[in-house]
Amino acid sequence: MPLYLVNYKQKEQTRKNVFHRRFKKFLPPKEARKPNECWNWQGVITSNGYGHIWYDDKNYQAHRVAYEIYKGEIALGLIVRHTCDNPSCVNPNHLILGTHVDNAADMVKRGRAPKGARGKLKEYEVREIKYYLHKNKKAGVIAKLARIYNVNPQTIANIKNNKTWQFIKKGTLLLCHDNSLIG
Ligand SMILES: [Zn+2]
Repeated sequence: MPLYLVNYKQKEQTRKNVFHRRFKKFLPPKEARKPNECWNWQGVITSNGYGHIWYDDKNYQAHRVAYEIYKGEIALGLIVRHTCDNPSCVNPNHLILGTHVDNAADMVKRGRAPKGARGKLKEYEVREIKYYLHKNKKAGVIAKLARIYNVNPQTIANIKNNKTWQFIKKGTLLLCHDNSLIG
């Protein structure tokens, strides 16, 4: 291996180690980390309940970082889901890989959203929808978002055309980083 590559790899590894050490500072104390119980994130929690961590001027979702540290890489387009339904939990035993569709199906199953069009969206969901609408101008995106968030396509169209939720000016990506939607 050429020397510059060796140096690069070492640098990357150091950066990762520092990040992971920083991450572990926000875990509950060791004696409180039971294998089958939730490990609630001790750092920043956003309004939708997910833990976050800053590193190198970037914002990461704590449960995604937990998955990468303890279980491995997250393939592009996949999200990390909670089997415990507790968004602030970072116990790797409660984390599995999945898709947006799995997540929507889960919400219906757990009664977080009634079957069929539910009409009502949470504010953080609207922020995400606005983010996707801003990033993806393709025609099919409305139908896709309607499916994912389990609402009527008209609900998404109304958000797009500023007929509803006008007070949200800018979208943010919170729940996941699904690149397949942005493309
Ligand atoms: Zn949990």
